[in-house]
Amino acid sequence: MTARILIVDDIEANRRLLQAKLEAQYHTVLLAENGPQALEMASRELPEIILLDVMMPGMDGYEVCTRLKADPATSYIPVVMVTALSEMEDRVKGLDAGAEDFLTKPVDDFLLNSRITALMRYNTVAAELRQREASGLRSGAMEEASREEIDRPARVFIVDDDPRSSTRLASMLRAQGHKATTLLEAGNMGDLAAERVDVVIVSLFCRSFDPLKLCAHFKVNPVTRSISVIVVCDPHDKAKALRALEIGASDTITVPLDKQELAARIRTQTRRTRYIDILRQRVDRGLELSVIDQLTGLHNRRYMNGQLEQLMQRSVRGGKPLSLMMTDIDHFKSVNDTHGHQAGDDVLREIAKRLRANVRPTDIVCRTGGEEFVVVMPDTPGDLACAAAERIRKSVAAEEFPVLGGSRNLRITVSAGVSTLQGATDTIDELLHRADTALYQAKTGGRNRVESIAA
Ligand code: GH3
Ligand code: MG
Ligand code: MG
Repeated sequence: MTARILIVDDIEANRRLLQAKLEAQYHTVLLAENGPQALEMASRELPEIILLDVMMPGMDGYEVCTRLKADPATSYIPVVMVTALSEMEDRVKGLDAGAEDFLTKPVDDFLLNSRITALMRYNTVAAELRQREASGLRSGAMEEASREEIDRPARVFIVDDDPRSSTRLASMLRAQGHKATTLLEAGNMGDLAAERVDVVIVSLFCRSFDPLKLCAHFKVNPVTRSISVIVVCDPHDKAKALRALEIGASDTITVPLDKQELAARIRTQTRRTRYIDILRQRVDRGLELSVIDQLTGLHNRRYMNGQLEQLMQRSVRGGKPLSLMMTDIDHFKSVNDTHGHQAGDDVLREIAKRLRANVRPTDIVCRTGGEEFVVVMPDTPGDLACAAAERIRKSVAAEEFPVLGGSRNLRITVSAGVSTLQGATDTIDELLHRADTALYQAKTGGRNRVESIAA
């Protein structure tokens, strides 16, 4: 995976060195030699990653980072602060400025490549989320809520069979405000997804089991796949760390652990997990929106058609009956005309409630049109379906409908038509048409009644 990377450094030799390292890995490099130029290039070129020197005359790296993060156009671009060993103490400032990661000068090839790999993986998820946001399906309230969610303290699970290092890491994380549980405390891995763990830290120093196998297991299991894995590795055993990244670990951190590096990686990887979570929720919600009627929460016609097709086939094959009831509110237009559309909507919602209360769990209740509803009843012969329809009719007529916050009560009735599947040659259209004909008979026969068509 190659990236477009902006290098910001005031010293030409430093820029050249980093450029050579990155180009050797086939990345595309952009160069800036001071803060203002970096800001200008970032917003014009939108690089995928920014490597930012801290010490620069004029505007220093912290200020550049703060500005990048304040501009919505560039705020999502991961920034790696490149600091000299003597500036380690100042890394807190980098975190506060919103930097995603740190590298120490002189920059080690392996560590540089690990940063780029990890941040590109993070970018893949973040980019998809941004794209979805840009292409609609956005709901303001949810956006805001999830943005706050993103930077809540992380839930971290630590897998390390050495009690001392395990405890030390846990207390480091707790001191940073995160929730940490160690495998040694918990006794087993438990249900990480159910406990909404954001990051699992796996020590590659584990001896009692193969930590790489564990990483692989995480990444193939669909339930845990989206949880970010950070491996703790030996800086002298690059092969093992690389193997972990190949297997699917999201990031690495070397010993001795640096507090700020840990803080930055936990923050970035927690975001990654939560972004995936939001994406998934949106997909679920998008699917749901397409089959659910928003006013009543009942299924819509599209869903009904899909289900009916399958149920009809199953009924024919299994030799079991299938019936449906179509119902329509009597003189509903006058409810709107007399009490307003809002009252009409209240009536529709209350009808939905009474329908649900009077059918079996296996029945499918749908709002198929403005004030028309269908209940599909699997395994139900015509006479039982008529009895169910009669029960529904009565439950509507028996009690008045509270509308407009209970300020008025309306007397509502419905008419209904019932039809039953007639063998293998019957079609959805004919089945629905017979129910509609029966419904029409109920209307012309005086309303507030149930009719059925035998065949
Ligand atoms: P009938 O007994 O013959 O069914 O008479 P009706 O007045 O119920 O039937 P008609 O088809 O003349 O009118 C249906 C009304 O339903 C008209 C329309 O404004 C209203 N309606 C349809 N969808 C909605 C909705 O989502 N909300 C509200 N409040 N009214 C709706
Ligand atoms: Mg009507
Ligand atoms: Mg009507």
